[in-house]
Amino acid sequence: MRSFCVECGTEGPVHGGLCANCLPQKRSLVDLPSVLELERCVHCGRFHVPRGWAETELEDALRQTVAKAAAVSRDVRDHQVLLHMDLRHSDEVGLRLSHRLVLPELVAEQVSEARVRLKRTTCPDCARQHGQYYEAILQVRAFDRPVAEEEMETIRGFVEERMRGEPRLFVAKEETMHGGLDIYLSSNRAAKALAQRIKAHLGGKVSSSPKLHGRRGGHDVYRVTYAVRLPAEAA
Ligand SMILES: [Zn+2]
Ligand SMILES: [Zn+2]
Repeated sequence: MRSFCVECGTEGPVHGGLCANCLPQKRSLVDLPSVLELERCVHCGRFHVPRGWAETELEDALRQTVAKAAAVSRDVRDHQVLLHMDLRHSDEVGLRLSHRLVLPELVAEQVSEARVRLKRTTCPDCARQHGQYYEAILQVRAFDRPVAEEEMETIRGFVEERMRGEPRLFVAKEETMHGGLDIYLSSNRAAKALAQRIKAHLGGKVSSSPKLHGRRGGHDVYRVTYAVRLPAEAA
């Protein structure tokens, strides 16, 4: 029996009356959210893939994340994804995806795009090891505007640089909130130095507010928040 595509008239294998070319244009065989999230542990560098925390390359972690999030049409027997990564900045990856979809009668290709937000977190193993311990919060805000993405990258770069020279230093938690950045650090001294470095590089003001946290060895223990206010005009 000869079959024709109802759309373009091409003779050959069809699925639901459509050839391999017309099928993906008429029907979506795979749906993917346009924004995805991928967590990475700031301490051990592992990625949170669907099966758990894995030591793997970014590309592989992205592929697993996409495969899990993709809703594939029921007729599809096999689904493979080819990724083209475009690292936009340290916490976002743009993806161009080509999906190879094997159907009973033919193989179709569908292309799509997605953005993946890379979230810095602490995996459960590292959290247990460090006990979410922190001495200081580096709180970065800007006057009358949100902190710019480039500024956040610069600040994270400073923190990472400092951690390389100070192996005991770690980030207990990082939060982006109220248009700014909160970084919870295991060392008060490092947080203070970082606040000064940010000010020297990006401008603005630094203020500190200690809060009594408890007593250790007969001494009061404080947790200090270093609040950096960047100027209204980005440097
Ligand atoms: Zn066709
Ligand atoms: Zn970890």
